[in-house]
Amino acid sequence: MEKQNKHTFIYWDRVIIALCIFVLIIIFIVLGIKGIISAFSEDGKSEKAVQAIKTDTAIIGAGQELLVCIDAGHGGEEDCGALSKDETRFESNDDLKMALAVEKHLQELGADVLMTRNEDIYVDLYSRPEMANDANADLYVSLHRNSAETGQGVEVWVNYDSPDDDTLLAKNILNGLDEVGISQNRGVQYGYQGYDPTAKVNYVVNEKSNMPSCLVELGFITDDEDNTLFDKNLDAYAKSIAESIVKSAEELNIIEPA
Ligand SMILES: [Zn+2]
Repeated sequence: MEKQNKHTFIYWDRVIIALCIFVLIIIFIVLGIKGIISAFSEDGKSEKAVQAIKTDTAIIGAGQELLVCIDAGHGGEEDCGALSKDETRFESNDDLKMALAVEKHLQELGADVLMTRNEDIYVDLYSRPEMANDANADLYVSLHRNSAETGQGVEVWVNYDSPDDDTLLAKNILNGLDEVGISQNRGVQYGYQGYDPTAKVNYVVNEKSNMPSCLVELGFITDDEDNTLFDKNLDAYAKSIAESIVKSAEELNIIEPA
């Protein structure tokens, strides 16, 4: 009996050691497999990201430089722009939100961005194009929202004498936004809204900027559907505007196509 007991004791001791080694081996195998899987999936992710960037319509190539002036309309207590019908929504806030989102997307595409304002402050109308002229910006895009008793949709304004380069920029931006989805495409407009259409008057930012420019009226702040679309598509609109700007820079030979 004693011999048997001793024999049994030694047997279990070995089994326990063997089990411990077995468990350790399993742990190492599981950790190893996990590591390999995560390495592969990260590879997959980064490949996807690169593909996503490559399929974008425009990327600024190495050695190419593009400086875009993005002008968020209005700003500060002195000039909140147009108001929604219930007077809770200020155009100046919408313009700034869109401008900051466009800035982000332009930077992601490799462009340099000059902002006429990047916070809720008053900026004199004439100093806006001056900033762009002083910095030798290549393109100028002013972001606004429309207002009226009735009316909806997006329109883009250029100088009344319809300069080709400005019209190209305006059309590209408008077509891009139309693809994302807008309530109505109101087309490229010439001159200045609200005056006699035959009067030769321009928006100050278009008139005074030395580079191709346009003024985007991104829907009516007085229209519920346009406001819903603006909020829902803010980032998609901004991405589209940024891509249209870079596309225009290529078509205007400011930068070489990537
Ligand atoms: Zn405005």
